[in-house]
Order: sequence, then structure tokens, then C-alpha cells
Amino acid sequence: MRKITKVVARQVFDSRGNPTVEAEVYSNNVSSKAICPSGASTGSLEAFEKRDISNKKYLGKSVLNCVKIINKIIAKKIKNQNVHDQERIDHILIKLDGTKQKSKIGSNSILAVSMAVKKLSAKIKKIPLYKNFIVKKNFKLPFPLMNIINGGAHANNGLRIQEFMIRPDSAKSFSEAIRMCFIVINKLKKLIINKGHSTSVGDEGGFAPMINDNEKALKLITQAIKKSGFINGKDISICLDVAANELYRNNKYSIHSKKYINSDLTIKKYKNLIKKYKISSIEDPFAENDWNSWNELMKNNIFNIQIVGDDLYVTNLERIKIGFLNNSSNAVLVKLNQIGTVTETLEVIKFSQLIGFKTIISHRSGDSEDTFIADLAVGTNSNQIKTGSLARSERVAKYNQLLRIEENLGSSAKMNNIN
Ligand code: PEP
Ligand code: MG
Repeated sequence: MRKITKVVARQVFDSRGNPTVEAEVYSNNVSSKAICPSGASTGSLEAFEKRDISNKKYLGKSVLNCVKIINKIIAKKIKNQNVHDQERIDHILIKLDGTKQKSKIGSNSILAVSMAVKKLSAKIKKIPLYKNFIVKKNFKLPFPLMNIINGGAHANNGLRIQEFMIRPDSAKSFSEAIRMCFIVINKLKKLIINKGHSTSVGDEGGFAPMINDNEKALKLITQAIKKSGFINGKDISICLDVAANELYRNNKYSIHSKKYINSDLTIKKYKNLIKKYKISSIEDPFAENDWNSWNELMKNNIFNIQIVGDDLYVTNLERIKIGFLNNSSNAVLVKLNQIGTVTETLEVIKFSQLIGFKTIISHRSGDSEDTFIADLAVGTNSNQIKTGSLARSERVAKYNQLLRIEENLGSSAKMNNIN
């Protein structure tokens, strides 16, 4: 047993330049710190992110109350607890809040502490963080879902779909996976320049050219894959995050164009896109409470692609159970701050894997230099990781950490399986 002796919090800034919480947990003179991320296209059932809305000094976005809560309340509650007893500490934090969506003390106060405890436990055990989760041997590296064109709430280019990603399916190692993405991104950059567009990037590091037609983005990507010498649908496959909550009104969707259409027609158009561009994964194809449409798409999943629930599940076990019974998806996106503690996140991953769902560990569009999710992906045997493009250091940091983990594992390092 090693006791927690001190907890300190501070306000730092995320990749969008917004205030966020950093917590530092001590056991005597050893400490670890963690930073809470923040989303833009959030599900309404996500754990609550507490901000000082009445403090105009930071336009209502500061987290100084969370800092105070950690320093004055959480610190006292978890002092003298065993740093290796993550479940007990997380349950103290959950109880301290006492609300369903962690709206009293804020999921951002809770999560920063929860992650820092997990890191400190690994540090004291003198093991890498990835060895301090579920998997104890035969570690596998996740396939990157690399977001190379940004749209939706992550860019201001008018592209309706939020994320256009590539997955290097034929890669035999993580470093090879990154190399393949690197080549495609460079070819894509040239194509974007040749079309006279800007190569500036969006919140997640993918290009954000001023094109407002999904198919134009898909055409650019298929060309870039071809120019890289890869075969679309074999070496590399295209994956989407539609973030359909943002494109839903009166039971209709404006995903494929500005026009709102019903979900049957939306599914028909999805099927065309899947076939034409060999799309292998679609996240949040429908809104968070439109269970029927999710089920219809699964029933019509003739190409057997990956259907991923993000805003649908908000990393919440109860929601995933409903999704399982409803046959809503075959994969889940896992975001720590949607639920608010490491323990609950691990419960979600274990249950999802038990029912045969693929688990995809994900960053948030507002993220930081914290690389916790890279270790989490390996330590939970998650098939994939979604952490932006090979641009913006808060995104690249996670890929770099996975390269270090691969090196650390040496010849035993294997890629996970996606099929
Ligand atoms: C997402 O929707 O999957 C995502 C990462 O974006 P955000 O963090 O804005 O929810
Ligand atoms: Mg999403």
C-alpha cells in the first residue's frame, strides 16, 4: 500500500486555447499529473463539464471552481487512500458528486484526479502506464483511425461530415501504420494545393480545405490513397465520423447535402457512399436518441462495415446495454471524459469486449499534451485509436507514445485485429 499524501490542481489550457483542469497527485515526493480534455460535438448525456460561466474574465470558460474543488474538497477526501486502489478512489469521487451526470463537482474535476492516480500507481510500481490497466501480457498495438480532413464542428469550411479518416488496414506494425498514413497525408496535401485550396488544419489536425461537399473530400482521399501506391479498401480504408447529432432536425438529416431528408433515404445514400468509396467504418451515422435508424442501418449492413456509437453511448454502460439489445452498432467509441472516471471507462471497455463490440479509444477535439489514451488503448486490448492527424502536437503526442510503446515491447509487439 502507498498512500496519497497531497493533491494539487491548476488551470491550464487545451489545444483550442480554452482553460482546462490539470491535477497532480502525490505520494510523498513522487507525483503524476493529468489533464482533462474537452469536446465540441458533445452528446447531451455526457458527464457534465463544469465551467465558471459567470466569470467573464475568461468569457465564462475558466475552470477555477474545479481547481478549488480539487484543492479544498477532493484532496481531503482521497488523502491517505491507497494509490493502487483505483476503484475505491473513483467511487469516493463518484459518491462525493452524487449526481447522475457528475454535475455537482464536474466530471473535469473528477477525471483529472482519476487519471493522475492511475499514472501515479504505475510510476510507483515502476511499470509503464500501459501495463497498469487490464491486459497483463501479449500486448497489441491499435490501428490508428487517422483524421485527415476535418469538417463539421471541427472546422469552418462547411463540410457536413465532421471527420474523414483513413485506417492503414494492411500495416503489420504500428510504425508501418504511421508511415502509410504519413505518405497519404503528403499526397493529399499536394492534391489540395493543386486544387488551389488552403492546407491549414482543423481542430484535430486534418486539413480543412474550403470544400463543402462530402464527395469532393472523399474523391480527394481516394486519389491520395491511389497516388500513394495503396489500394483503397485493402491497404487503406476510409472511415467517417458523421457526428449526426449536429445534422438532425425534426426526424430528418442534412448529412449528404444541406437538404433535410428522412432516415430511409439517408441510409440509401450511406449505402451508395460505402460502395463507391469502400468506406469501412461509420461513427454516429444517426442522432443520439434515434435508436430505430441505428437498428435499420445494422439490419442493412450488407457490406459488414464497422458502425460506431459515440454520442449514442457516451461511454456509459447503461446506454451500451440498450444498444446491444437494440442491435444498434458493432463498435463503441471510448472517451474518458464522457463518463468521468478511469474505473467506469474500464468497465465499459470490458463489457463492450464481452458482447463482441470493437473498442476504439478516442481523444477529444479539445485535447492536450497528455498521452494517457495511447497507453489506455494498448492496456485494454482496444482494436483502434482515434487521435487526429499527424499534425498538431497534442495529436502527434499520442502517436509518438504508441511508437515508444511498440519499441518497449520489442519483438513481442503485434498489431491488433480489426476484422
Ligand atoms: C468525436 O465526435 O468523435 C470527437 C472526437 O469530437 P468531440 O471531441 O468534439 O466530441
Ligand atoms: Mg464522434
